[in-house]
Amino acid sequence: MAKEDLECSFCGRKKAETNLLIAGLDAHICDRCIEQAHGIVVEEALHSTNTELTKEMMLKKPKAIKEFLDDYIIGQEHTKKVMSVAVYNHYKRLLQPKSEDDIEIQKSNIIIVGQTGTGKTLMAKTVARMLNVPLAIVDATVLTEAGYVGEDVESILTRLLQAADYNVEKAQNGIVFIDEIDKIARKSDNPSITRDVSGEGVQQALLKLLEGTVVNVPPKGGRKHPDQKFIEVNTENILFIAGGAFDGIERHISKRLNMQAVGFSASKSDDTRERDNLLKYIIPKDLKDFGLIPEIIGRLPVLTYMNPLDKGTLRAILTEPKNAIIKQYKKLFEMDEIDFVITEEALDFIVSQAIQYKLGARGLRSLCEAVLTDAMYELPSTTDKKLHVTQEYAEEKLNKSTIKKLKAVS
Ligand code: ADP
Repeated sequence: MAKEDLECSFCGRKKAETNLLIAGLDAHICDRCIEQAHGIVVEEALHSTNTELTKEMMLKKPKAIKEFLDDYIIGQEHTKKVMSVAVYNHYKRLLQPKSEDDIEIQKSNIIIVGQTGTGKTLMAKTVARMLNVPLAIVDATVLTEAGYVGEDVESILTRLLQAADYNVEKAQNGIVFIDEIDKIARKSDNPSITRDVSGEGVQQALLKLLEGTVVNVPPKGGRKHPDQKFIEVNTENILFIAGGAFDGIERHISKRLNMQAVGFSASKSDDTRERDNLLKYIIPKDLKDFGLIPEIIGRLPVLTYMNPLDKGTLRAILTEPKNAIIKQYKKLFEMDEIDFVITEEALDFIVSQAIQYKLGARGLRSLCEAVLTDAMYELPSTTDKKLHVTQEYAEEKLNKSTIKKLKAVS
């Protein structure tokens, strides 16, 4: 066959009509058909990984999910259990065959109440890590109603798309963690006085997202702009986890408890209750009294709480999780073939400093950094291959590094 008579065996285009014609054994393919075929391959691959993902998840029962969480999160047993069930149900919902009967399983969006630094974000991160799905962490305080200064609620989905490398399908199965949800609580009991730009309006805007809807998302974020192309994102299968400290909600809880059956007070003195974590008695009504609108509360049906971190928990956080801080330093030193050992007393001392200066779990890292910076700076350029950190060593380094500064930073 003459060269000019060659044609694509798929679309029939003549060689002259193509940019490229690749020869096979006894067939040819043109550049356009290659592109099209590639598109089909990618589509198929995406589809199969998604069903694989959900299938894999179905195999993981709540107990197995909790075991995974145990590897990374110390304590918080109640919330780990609640999360495991919520995540399991979420994926069961995704696998539910459509329209078999009229029973539609509601989304298991979650709301976690707990002081800052108790591991709420870690909980969301760990679930996303286990499921291998994209995670967007957003701060509710920057959200405002459309048309006001600040970010539109849709920006949440822009973040998720970015986390999913703009793979819409992946984003649609992802997780969104909305931090500081308490900060968009209604400030006053009378919403009609002035417009509550960052409060109730944002809650209203969030409603649809939480429930499941198709949203036009500006891919690069920012304000919606008439010239910008939108990406359609369906939020139906996105798992939303909201977190907040809800400072002062204990007052609502204790007020309610005191108003309730006298039997409760009789069985438990006010004193012991005060010392307990009052959050464990939290019910949706307390969130409403705090200023969340009932519709939002209804769309975050799984309500759970975090315990404050005590000394034992802080100590365990240093060394026990799979990627515990101390394990990370050990690995860093190992890369320079330095054997890093830290004594029990030194670890206890670091924990006591975190407690004394109210630095919480987040402060543990800054404290370790302060103790180890000199060594990390000097040792790699010496022949010294051992670092033995005792309490005296830790004390000396911390005294030098003005812990007071740490307090200001945290
Ligand atoms: P929050 O979102 O509640 O403010 P984070 O999840 O950001 O708290 O936690 C702050 C830091 O403390 C993180 O580095 C996290 O790894 C660590 N941390 C907090 N609680 C725990 C815990 N229970 N187990 C392990 N690490 C924890």
